[in-house]
Amino acid sequence: MRVIVLASGSAGNASWFEAAGTSVLVDAGIAPRALEAKLATAGARLPDAIVVTHAHQDHVGQSLRLARRLKIPIYASEATARTEALHGRDEVKVFSAREPFAIGALTIAPMPLPHDAAQVALVVEGGGHRAAIVTDLGEVPPGLAAHLAGCELVLIESNHDAELLQNGHYPAFLKRRIASARGHLSNAQAHALLRALPVEAHTVVLMHLSKSNNRPELALESAQDALSGRRVRLLAATQDACLALDAAPAEAWPPLAGARGRAAQLSLFG
Ligand SMILES: [Zn+2]
Ligand SMILES: [Zn+2]
Repeated sequence: MRVIVLASGSAGNASWFEAAGTSVLVDAGIAPRALEAKLATAGARLPDAIVVTHAHQDHVGQSLRLARRLKIPIYASEATARTEALHGRDEVKVFSAREPFAIGALTIAPMPLPHDAAQVALVVEGGGHRAAIVTDLGEVPPGLAAHLAGCELVLIESNHDAELLQNGHYPAFLKRRIASARGHLSNAQAHALLRALPVEAHTVVLMHLSKSNNRPELALESAQDALSGRRVRLLAATQDACLALDAAPAEAWPPLAGARGRAAQLSLFG
């Protein structure tokens, strides 16, 4: 299974998953032309479908344009399909937020996440491999780690550093929204989830990093501490990321050192 993170952050999100001849785009928050150019550069084909995680603009904003341009369907949960962005559109196919569904050779298992829009984590399975995308959640709900069982590749939100957020320039209401249980995951919250990752996980990408309230080195240092001693490749996606990943890599990664150890094994792209 190949996975490409094409964009990650509040200015737009898109990730591509492909296995056994089927490819899907999870979220479409960047312009179709830019997305197609990135896929071409990465040697990836155009997606067979779009799956949107929720109805926020940075995830759903370009989905109708892209779906019409490529003549492909948009899969959305019942609650997301009812929102203004997608309601009544012919392109939309509805899935239940708690039931696995198939797109071609892929099986996609959603799980509801706490956020200020109806949101889902997605586990994508195909060709004998499994990957997950977990972003836009205010806290880690019970059962999430179990939902990720068997995932070899995990894309997980590490949105903000709690201290940078509190001391930053955002208005108070926005700080409250981001830090709330229906906002975004902090580095410390991501740390707790990373400690419960399945044994199969060998690649972790930190996603949806805030430009104002986080720094890649802070998010990576926290995640490295959580994954210390494990054979995991750890990366941080940037807004304009183009990270090509594989759920079945040819090589095994060396064990990660503790956060205070040498940082030589960290890779930072973007
Ligand atoms: Zn978002
Ligand atoms: Zn959101």
